[in-house]
Amino acid sequence: TAPELLRNFCIIAHIDHGKSTLADRMLQLTGVVDARAMRAQYLDRMDIERERGITIKSQAVRMPWAVPDETGSLQPYALNMIDTPGHVDFTYEVSRSLAACEGAVLLVDAAQGIEAQTLANLYLALENDLQVIPVLNKIDLPAAQPEKYADELARLVGGDPADVLKVSGKTGVGVEELLDRIVELVPAPVGDADAPARAMIFDSVYDTYRGVVTYVRVVDGNLNPRERIAMMSTKATHELLEIGVISPEPVPTKGLGVGEVGYLITGVKDVRQSKVGDTVTNSAKPAAEALGGYSDPKPMVFSGLYPIDGSDYPVLRDALDKLKLNDAALNYEPETSVALGFGFRVGFLGLLHLEIVRERLEREFDLDLISTAPNVVYDVVMEDRTEVHVTNPSEFPGGKIREVREPIVKATILAPAEFIGAIMELCQTKRGDLQGMDYLSEDRVEMRYTLPLAEIVFDFFDQLKSRTRGYASLDYEPTGEQVADLVKVDILLQGEQVDAFSAIAHKDKAYAYGVMMTAKLKDLIPRQQFEVPIQAAIGSRVIARETIRAIRKDVLAKCYGGDISRKRKLLEKQKEGKKRMKTIGRVDVPQEAFIAALSSD
Ligand code: GDP
Ligand code: MG
Repeated sequence: TAPELLRNFCIIAHIDHGKSTLADRMLQLTGVVDARAMRAQYLDRMDIERERGITIKSQAVRMPWAVPDETGSLQPYALNMIDTPGHVDFTYEVSRSLAACEGAVLLVDAAQGIEAQTLANLYLALENDLQVIPVLNKIDLPAAQPEKYADELARLVGGDPADVLKVSGKTGVGVEELLDRIVELVPAPVGDADAPARAMIFDSVYDTYRGVVTYVRVVDGNLNPRERIAMMSTKATHELLEIGVISPEPVPTKGLGVGEVGYLITGVKDVRQSKVGDTVTNSAKPAAEALGGYSDPKPMVFSGLYPIDGSDYPVLRDALDKLKLNDAALNYEPETSVALGFGFRVGFLGLLHLEIVRERLEREFDLDLISTAPNVVYDVVMEDRTEVHVTNPSEFPGGKIREVREPIVKATILAPAEFIGAIMELCQTKRGDLQGMDYLSEDRVEMRYTLPLAEIVFDFFDQLKSRTRGYASLDYEPTGEQVADLVKVDILLQGEQVDAFSAIAHKDKAYAYGVMMTAKLKDLIPRQQFEVPIQAAIGSRVIARETIRAIRKDVLAKCYGGDISRKRKLLEKQKEGKKRMKTIGRVDVPQEAFIAALSSD
């Protein structure tokens, strides 16, 4: 298709404002998916997305849409639509999609109005120089207030409230007009058709049967089947076995030209050969310069991932390699733990990202995993000015420390004005610093805070929701570091440190952590032949202590002489149980105890 007849756009919105549903209607109206094959959230292809009703991965689909020109003859346009995730943890996924587009449909729920991620996504679109089309969705809802929110939206994006389109992704009202508007307003892609080929890899997935499937947006020149391509960062060359577009399943084509979005398959099985952000060129006629690429996202939260069955370690390693291909934000390196054995220290963008990765590993690779308590990254400056970067609390240095720095975020909270007090109170307890406040309308405020990331990643959002009866929305982005009064709390069993339980806490919260963890372990660790003290300590200072009393464990006592085979069975069972014990010092701890202590909050 000639670039003049192409339109590349994405749908951006706050979570639940109806992106995926609108995408469904577009697929149907353009005839890409017929009524029989239609199912809700068609593009959410992963089971986990469908179950949770959220989009995690962006998806690109090509749709035909004919619009008459001035003379009245129909012009066959091809629209490439990219559906994007809404949650903050996946902003990185959104920004890559935006880079492949010229326009963005900014969708706002007509019963909710503008929310925190509406703003965040709008700013991302503007940074990428996209043509923004403001649209109100869900106008079929009785609670919809299209006039009120059209004003709000027009004030935000600029323009006339009368130009804000009003649609319903559910009933389909207004969606044809929206498709026409996209053709009219979104600029056609521009690129040099005669230049050497340059295509940006914006995603890739591993397919068991076909190997690596790479998603690209062609910027200059064209890519054709059977030619040799080269990856510009590694200079690796491959034969193009297949190239095509997704509509809505992969459809092979005779090639992809300027502005086109599609996929390519080289038969490569090594996942590292196809790196998101890399530029694909023609190996016989290579481009001189690679495209801009994406900066790798910085992991914000770290956790240890361990296979429950130690022999699964190689499976876990291979699974992480494969997942990384599809999730550039994933970072990991091997680590070992006294309590948990061999595993990986993994960096995530946030807790939802952690949860999703863990669930995908367990489902797609049939693994049973334990993840350790998540933590943020700390920079520790020693008295002699050397710096230590701590991603695992158990590696927090001893010795003379000058200062500890923790990551902070700039948070934006949007809520009805009546909740200002409740929000301020919450942010206070989370060590927040109010930076500013604006009224978006008489009854809606935007509050801006600086908060430690460690305080916001865990239960902040839940607490915010419950204190505002669900009306507040939150967005945040990293904005650097601050010096804080942080200490490392160790948990000791019989004087022996248990690495998986070390935590870094603010001085005022260290005591509470120590008390909570020692009490929990006391309940979980079975009695031994001797007394076992459990302590929480900061350096050499003990801040909490519990004791497991000694017991002479005699499993046969219960049997009152009874029959001998029963006794043998019991003894065997006990031996079996022993195998899965970890020994910390002299103390035998069943692995379940560690798992239980780490998994609940
Ligand atoms: P996303 O998170 O932005 O992708 O939102 P979804 O498309 O998953 O929709 C979130 C919820 O809103 C779902 O329960 C949809 O059924 C519902 N929804 C989406 N669009 C409409 C609409 O136009 N009208 C009504 N009444 N509900 C809608
Ligand atoms: Mg969605």
